[in-house]
Amino acid sequence: MPMYDYACTCGTRFERMVPSWSSPAPDCPDCGATTRRRPPSPSMHGLAAPPAPMTSAPRSWEGLNNGDRDTVTHWRRAVEARREFEARHPEHRQRRDAIAAHEGRFERTPLTYRELASRAATSGDANQAAAEASRDRRTDPRPRDEL
Ligand SMILES: [Zn+2]
Repeated sequence: MPMYDYACTCGTRFERMVPSWSSPAPDCPDCGATTRRRPPSPSMHGLAAPPAPMTSAPRSWEGLNNGDRDTVTHWRRAVEARREFEARHPEHRQRRDAIAAHEGRFERTPLTYRELASRAATSGDANQAAAEASRDRRTDPRPRDEL
């Protein structure tokens, strides 16, 4: 079950486990008013989080948290980010490897956790592995389709 952040107009913010993303927002534990889900916070880590896959996006904007504007905006941005990401990296339309990094030096060829893990297993150092992965990419540029 996913856990989401909710906010009430009275200022209360709380986390709650719900059966799915489409579950209705729970009532405020303090005042009982209807709350709304807050968009997920950006990654706290140095490595950029990969855009959410299309399959996690809602099918219809109308049924989305009663059309809550922030929620709709969040998902529109998420879907746009994923489209842009897949346009730049067509291989990730099919390849569903988790992406460890896709910005900065990995912008053109994202680093997957699988690659990172195999390199870390060899060197025993994830940071060094990431550096090696980056170095390999610079010396081995692959042709790619730019859309
Ligand atoms: Zn409240």
